[in-house]
Amino acid sequence: VVGDEILGGHVLDTNTHWLLQQLRRMGHDVARVEIVPDDIPVIGESVQRFLQENFDVLFVCGGIGPTHDDVTVEAVAKALGREYATSEEALALIQRQYDRFHELGFLKSARIEDVSGAQKMARVPEGCTLLDPIGTAPGIFLSEWNAAGTEIKIFVLPGVPLEHHAMFTNHIKNKLLPKNPDKKHTVEIITKTEEGRLADLLVQAIELFPGIKIGSYPDIEKLQVLLRITGTAEQVESAAEYIRNELAALGPG
Ligand code: ATP
Repeated sequence: VVGDEILGGHVLDTNTHWLLQQLRRMGHDVARVEIVPDDIPVIGESVQRFLQENFDVLFVCGGIGPTHDDVTVEAVAKALGREYATSEEALALIQRQYDRFHELGFLKSARIEDVSGAQKMARVPEGCTLLDPIGTAPGIFLSEWNAAGTEIKIFVLPGVPLEHHAMFTNHIKNKLLPKNPDKKHTVEIITKTEEGRLADLLVQAIELFPGIKIGSYPDIEKLQVLLRITGTAEQVESAAEYIRNELAALGPG
């Protein structure tokens, strides 16, 4: 996540919450989220770290627009050692969007030659695939090699939430990024048993059903606890049955 406005507490990072929900529903585990400033070396170092740690997908979100503080695309190109150059295809995409927005009366000029910011958005890393925007800045898809020599898909998306969501939905979801066929199974249990009294039971369940994960999320207003169990379907269903039985014995409070 790129943006001084996020780090400064001016804007709530709702894009990340939205994207994490989408990825979970598609069966993808997310290992980490980093928020970095609009700063070329810092963005570059972050991208490099993700490559070094052998992730297979990386989203870089925000800062792809026309102004001087939108440096994400240049930073990604530099981090990957790719040339950052004007693309005729990007120019055409941007021109088409300018024509549309000019017709609708949103833009003063339809000639991108007159708009330095439009020229800037046409500069992209060599060898990338452009993602058609609903705004003006094209998104970017790059296939790279991580340190282990396996593929990492890198997506560079806009920060404006409507544009961010549309680009993910139109181009990435189930297309460039398919669903994970080994999606984890999840069962949720809500209990009135106080969280402190659940601690031993949860440890026992994890020992009995290795491989499962149990999250415990108290709701102090409703005086209840949500237990979320994830893992393989068989393990999770067995663990849930065990936990329900034990909770019945523990009782509320
Ligand atoms: P643009 O084409 O508008 O320049 P951009 O990719 O450059 O898009 P930013 O300049 O980073 O996007 O952000 C544009 C606006 O989108 C910000 O003013 C902010 O309100 C919103 N925004 C950016 N990032 C996020 C985020 N992670 N969550 C929610 N809103 C965001």
